[in-house]
Amino acid sequence: MTRFVIDLSESVEHSIFVLADPYRVVIDLPETEWRVSRAAANASAGLVQRYRFGLYRAGISRLVLDAAAPVQVHRAFVLPPQGNFAYRFVIDLKRTDRNSFLKSAGSPVGKLAAVRPAKPLPKVPPRRPDRPVIVLDPGHGGVDPGTIGAGGTYEKTVVLKVAKEIRRRLTASGRYQVVMTRNRDVFVRLHDRVKIAREADADLFLSIHADAINQRKVRGATVYTLSEKASDAEAGALAAKENKADVIAGVDLNVHNDDVANILIELAQRDTMNRSARFATILVPSLKKNVRVRAKPHRSAGFRVLKAPDVPSVLIELGYLSNRDDEKLLNSQAGRTAVAKAIAAAVSRYFEVVHSGNR
Ligand SMILES: [Zn+2]
Repeated sequence: MTRFVIDLSESVEHSIFVLADPYRVVIDLPETEWRVSRAAANASAGLVQRYRFGLYRAGISRLVLDAAAPVQVHRAFVLPPQGNFAYRFVIDLKRTDRNSFLKSAGSPVGKLAAVRPAKPLPKVPPRRPDRPVIVLDPGHGGVDPGTIGAGGTYEKTVVLKVAKEIRRRLTASGRYQVVMTRNRDVFVRLHDRVKIAREADADLFLSIHADAINQRKVRGATVYTLSEKASDAEAGALAAKENKADVIAGVDLNVHNDDVANILIELAQRDTMNRSARFATILVPSLKKNVRVRAKPHRSAGFRVLKAPDVPSVLIELGYLSNRDDEKLLNSQAGRTAVAKAIAAAVSRYFEVVHSGNR
């Protein structure tokens, strides 16, 4: 048996459920301020390999334990204050077999009043007919940190900063309406990111990410568009990794499969794909002027977040957090300004081309 203990400043309601493939234990608590070291979260102990925590959505904080084997939540309870401790939340995990695990998967144990209501998406302001709508999508967030850099930088943090810088520039031009899929450190499902773009009637969707790779020397930005067949093995592996965001955050995919399936079936239409490619061919030279790009800077693969059938979409990997120079660059205001400037300039150029009737 493995006992997992969280010290709390007050007693909380909670909800726990398990998810398979990989084996996870998901604990939802009211919105919580975490004071846990990152090192502790990666230290494996007993049945728990590592854990993640963060805001799942407004009002709910989530803790996801990666289990080494099928487990059963044997007990979960809150201990009243004793001695030096305030409240302690205790979870006892027992090993079980895969079949029993699967039987219990998805059904919550315990209660947390606010856990299950449908998630309200951010309100999208009504469209101004004279202004193209740009949706900026900073990757990951909350319980999903994204990639973690050589020096400890979180992808979710730098991509949000860059997205805000792009928004600042586009808004300042007075020519665009900008919608963000998230503007703080909160988790957003992949499906909801696509939904926000569609509801905003977006003219362009830019998903902002930063990559990591085990070759430390590799650096530079890459632009990805959607294709059913990956342009190369590395692009395919990256798409698989980025598509795992919901798994990392402990989303119960079974509940949402229909939505996802519908989007997959609709697959991007030819015209949308052409526009996405057009934007990519404008973005690459613009990036080259300001920042380093990879040898083959435009690649393609099956990124779920690029699957709105009617919204031209690209995913930009700003650089490699596994490379010290790229990490330093993205952590500096100057580096973020350079890349944001290049992206904003490409947006302007793209709409000049589109509006000149040269489609
Ligand atoms: Zn990412």
